[in-house]
Amino acid sequence: ADADLVHFAETQLAGAIGGASARVLVASVVQEEPPGLDEVMDILDEASQVRAYSHELEQKSRELETASAELRAANAQLQELDRMKDEFMSSVTHELRTPLTSIRAFSEILREDPRTHLADRMRFLTIIVKETERLTRLINQLLDMAKIESGNAEWHTSELDVQEAIRDSVEATSQLFRDSGVELSVSMQPAPRVRADRDRLMQVIMNLLSNAVKFCPRGGRVEVRLAPAPEGVRVDVQDNGPGISPADHEIIFEKFRQVSDTLTGKPRGTGLGLPISRKIVEHFGGRLWVESELGRGATFSFVLPLDAGARAGAEDE
Ligand code: ADP
Repeated sequence: ADADLVHFAETQLAGAIGGASARVLVASVVQEEPPGLDEVMDILDEASQVRAYSHELEQKSRELETASAELRAANAQLQELDRMKDEFMSSVTHELRTPLTSIRAFSEILREDPRTHLADRMRFLTIIVKETERLTRLINQLLDMAKIESGNAEWHTSELDVQEAIRDSVEATSQLFRDSGVELSVSMQPAPRVRADRDRLMQVIMNLLSNAVKFCPRGGRVEVRLAPAPEGVRVDVQDNGPGISPADHEIIFEKFRQVSDTLTGKPRGTGLGLPISRKIVEHFGGRLWVESELGRGATFSFVLPLDAGARAGAEDE
């Protein structure tokens, strides 16, 4: 009966502290003979296993801590994204409503009051047409931005001559320059061909040109330059307009951010042209940036690497 009891105690304890330790513990209680060398060795063995377990546990708990810190960071990022999405949505809503409100208001005036002077009628109609154009541009740019950001934009990448793209962009915007009385000069050095999407590249150049002309006063000057660069080719669009304070250099590349309307009193744009242009240049592995100071004009520049589009082109085709 005693032996049964000892056996029972040992099996119960063995689950908790290991077989050898249980035997010794029970033996010391029932006052059997002292543990032999084998048993002592077993105890040491179990002890080292316990140490290994506890080491493993420590390791695991450190891993858990790291994982939970990563989760916290990811969560904070998600919250930030959520906030940016809210801000973006309220900007979009605002930007869409503003032109609609004035289109509606002026249309109603024209409808309600048939005796409005002819000059006023023309003024109101001009506003309606302008606002309609702005709304159309805004919607097109929003859709364009969404396509690029979601990776659904189509890219027709090919080997192309940047000189040609610049010449065609200059041609396409020449009327703008004539109408605004801003002088445009072009200086192009021989530069290597790059792999990019011709229409997208022209979209970037035309956006920089139309910004330059938009912000330049009558009699202003704009210069486009093309030159080889260490990375590939470099294009500069320099104007002698009001310039942009260094604090705003990054802000203007954010969606819907416009900074100089109050300064220039120029008609409001959409604030999407530069962010889209930067995305396009980055798609081809390049960079787009501005150098400017208030009152000293602005130079927008981009570089395209020589294998521009090699990476992007592989995805696109
Ligand atoms: P938009 O011109 O439609 O407002 P953009 O994204 O093209 O949108 O430009 C964002 C802002 O950057 C402009 O509203 C203006 O404040 C500033 N900006 C862009 N180009 C120039 C320039 N050449 N000179 C001065 N400010 C500029």
